[in-house]
Amino acid sequence: MRIDLHTHSRASDGTQTPAELIRAAHAAGLDVVAITDHDTTEGWAEAAKAAEEVGIALVRGIEISTKLDGLSVHLLAYLPDPTYTPLLEGLQKVLDGRNARLPAILAKLRELGFDLDVEDVRRVAGETAAIGRPHVADALIAKGFLRDRDQAFSELLSAGRPAYVQRYAAPLNEMLRIVAEAGGVSVVAHPWGRHDPGPMGEEGLARLQEIGLSGVEVDHQDHDSQARDELRGIASNLGLVATGSSDHHGAGKSGHDLGCNTTDPDEYARLLELAAAAAARSERRTPEVLVP
Ligand SMILES: [Zn+2]
Ligand SMILES: [Zn+2]
Repeated sequence: MRIDLHTHSRASDGTQTPAELIRAAHAAGLDVVAITDHDTTEGWAEAAKAAEEVGIALVRGIEISTKLDGLSVHLLAYLPDPTYTPLLEGLQKVLDGRNARLPAILAKLRELGFDLDVEDVRRVAGETAAIGRPHVADALIAKGFLRDRDQAFSELLSAGRPAYVQRYAAPLNEMLRIVAEAGGVSVVAHPWGRHDPGPMGEEGLARLQEIGLSGVEVDHQDHDSQARDELRGIASNLGLVATGSSDHHGAGKSGHDLGCNTTDPDEYARLLELAAAAAARSERRTPEVLVP
């Protein structure tokens, strides 16, 4: 059984529609795929329809932008009730923050000599609920300023680069609580991908586990083999579920093909057990895994 628990569609910054993403997951030989767009559940319905059509199990999730001690932490929330008001409000705040950030990024880019306006970005972003830096990158590429998203991030858009602008992210502790109240389970995405372990070392993860964290994404392209081994050891010590996934963005991010990393079926089964327990505790109407 091949399981990929972290993918993006055009509902955030992937390049495929949710239906295209699901068909591609099926074509890639996956048995289970999770759709985890940034800060939105907008792709869920279309993905569910496509999953039923092609016959692939679908886990509905969200990758939520959070902050811990000033560091950006991506939190994968699986199977929460998407109508739970505190969750909706939390996601909306993140989306609003991102939309407010766009004009600020464009102003910085103009100062740097890259003449780009909001319409240029909207044109490449399409229907997404979450216009973000990847779309700014796409617009820079479309205008012939840059080669690809990697160049756009490394030279301009990443933290510390000249066109970077801070934005709102939900406090991690608060979001862990909200996801649990919504009947979902939380897994930290690529915890060692963007920075040294820092607050995501064994002690930090143990503290987060106490307030509701269920798992860590171990097998991810941002982790080298040594990081994966260490992180797997920590997960096993703490009893956290260890997941693996592609973080696929369609053509938007190279080296993240569907199924390039997968989650062990036993770990997946544990995650579903924890999700079922969280759903029961919350008394919310949570989405089931769609099984063909
Ligand atoms: Zn992420
Ligand atoms: Zn992601």
